[in-house]
Amino acid sequence: MSDLVQIVYISRSTFKPLPPELGIEPSVTRILAQSRLNNARRGLVGALYFGDGCFFQCLEGAANQVDALYSRLLDDPRHTDLQVLSRKPIEQRSFATWSMKYVPLDADIKALLASRGLDRFDPYRFGRAEVERVMELLKTGTAADEGPAPVAPADYPALPAAREAAPASTHDPVARRTAALALALAAIALAASGLALLR
Ligand code: FAD
Repeated sequence: MSDLVQIVYISRSTFKPLPPELGIEPSVTRILAQSRLNNARRGLVGALYFGDGCFFQCLEGAANQVDALYSRLLDDPRHTDLQVLSRKPIEQRSFATWSMKYVPLDADIKALLASRGLDRFDPYRFGRAEVERVMELLKTGTAADEGPAPVAPADYPALPAAREAAPASTHDPVARRTAALALALAAIALAASGLALLR
């Protein structure tokens, strides 16, 4: 019997969000970077949406890790009014390859809000159907910083840090650019030493 759980909660940001046309909110970018590092170490995965000053987050992993993170979340001054929408045992992780997937769902969320006669993303007013729809969008939506999510393995246990760092970094464009630059520099150094030998 697995001790995996999934928790879905909502909260309100305490920072004033920038206009959405300016791109991903810098505070959210920092939260994502911190989450991806920490979650990969702890065998946690999940997805986050931020809209109209509200967070909607799904977290999955071993029950003790999920609950410990939720306790830390309660103390985080960047958000308030945390409300758990669901907490349930799961057989396998839905976001298995994402230490924290970030999906800008603006068009889909607008359609959902319009269909319910809501004028802003206010998950505190959502019923079960709206919560399920947002979850579905988080699972199927394309992440902000990568193409479609790779096929997820059936399941995996919490892994040691070195092995967990790999999946997170494959979704990190900065890490990919740094690796490409290092390769280019190595090629130049090789060519230069070749020339020196010929002289
Ligand atoms: P540190 O990064 O050293 O932080 C120590 C303390 O400083 C914490 O109490 C933290 O609350 C506070 N803090 C850190 N950075 C800031 C900042 N920029 N502004 C104000 N206070 C700050 N963490 C995860 O590990 N995984 C997640 O999936 C995750 N999701 C989050 C979702 C939301 C909506 C928010 C607001 C935060 C999320 N966090 C997540 C962050 C989490 O609340 C803790 O801050 C984090 O886990 C602590 O990381 P750390 O142990 O490395 O401590």
